[in-house]
Amino acid sequence: MTLPVLRPTVDPRPSLLDLAPDDVLEQVGAFFAERGEPAYRAKQLLPRLWARPVATIDELTELPLATRAALSERFRLPRLTLAARQRSSDGTEKFLFRLHDGQTIETVAIPDGQRMTFCISSQAGCALRCAFCATGVMGFQRNLTAGEIAGQVRELALLDPPILPTNIVFMGMGEPLMNWSAVDVALTLLNDPRALGIGARHITVSTVGVLPGIEALAARPEQFRLAISVHAPFDDLRHDLMPVNVKYPLSSVIAAAKDFDRRVTFEYVMLGGVNDRPEHADALAHLARECRAFVNLIPLHPGGSLGFHPTPAMEISRFARRMREQGVEVAIRRSRGLDIAAACGQLRTEKVGRRAPVATEAHGQVELA
Ligand code: SAH
Repeated sequence: MTLPVLRPTVDPRPSLLDLAPDDVLEQVGAFFAERGEPAYRAKQLLPRLWARPVATIDELTELPLATRAALSERFRLPRLTLAARQRSSDGTEKFLFRLHDGQTIETVAIPDGQRMTFCISSQAGCALRCAFCATGVMGFQRNLTAGEIAGQVRELALLDPPILPTNIVFMGMGEPLMNWSAVDVALTLLNDPRALGIGARHITVSTVGVLPGIEALAARPEQFRLAISVHAPFDDLRHDLMPVNVKYPLSSVIAAAKDFDRRVTFEYVMLGGVNDRPEHADALAHLARECRAFVNLIPLHPGGSLGFHPTPAMEISRFARRMREQGVEVAIRRSRGLDIAAACGQLRTEKVGRRAPVATEAHGQVELA
């Protein structure tokens, strides 16, 4: 007697959300052509995926019933399942989405005056293990697909009432430039007027400094913005905080920032007693001037990893002033969503912390819901 082999079922149908607009036109266009239906139907489909999205293929009532059935035999229109939603007293909202394989990722919507910035994830977990980051603690699970990345924006547009972004930052979970092939397509989906239509200058990719990825981003014709997580102006300290500094040392990251033909932002998390002394301000100012970079000083969100304390606000101001005196443009970011642990990786850690591959010594820091 032969026993059936149990394998996880893999759905062979391509996801409509993983396809760039040109590929939708080509692949879905071919599908309609085969059925003897007009090719313009593929063009009509695009806004229903992204700009005015439908939740399911069934809801595409502009198509005949039989066409919808045939379309869903050929393609998938997957959802991200909303697993948790939290609202901060400052209006910041945080969403935890479950993916088809049980992985969870976070998306944060941050209102600020007329702006609505979405902070989106590019990977489930992260391999980089930056010492102060909650996502680093959980380790790398997998890359997201283009449709799962841009799909976070789609899901918030499907809410009732919908939440629509004016700006996107790749500052959720993961290192976007270690998942370039998907991020590349996701950038197209976010920016292309036939998809989400968000201006390239309103989309920021944040990286620890993955050099091949920076080159790939620079090679795109659109004006996507680049933010570099610097966090230390000296190699030895940066090495301690960000193990990736072995592979992409500060000097090479700074050289890449200098070569980038658009203005770069430096991100610098203020870690009390670690990277917040006057000599750090001077060295950081020097690097920023070299690259004509804008500097964002970020107050540490508590709840990352053990052993770090935020720099007091007064000292952050002093640090900023010292850099400004040296001709550098500096902004101090306001912490948003403090009461909902809105920093990178924190919600997932709360919800699934027990199951995530977390170092045991880090458990003391996480609050389980
Ligand atoms: N991997 C990318 C993008 C994700 S993190 C990168 O490192 O740039 C987005 C930003 O949040 C990074 O600058 C990261 O260092 C910062 N960050 C991580 N944990 C933080 C915390 N606890 N408080 C404040 N900023 C944090």
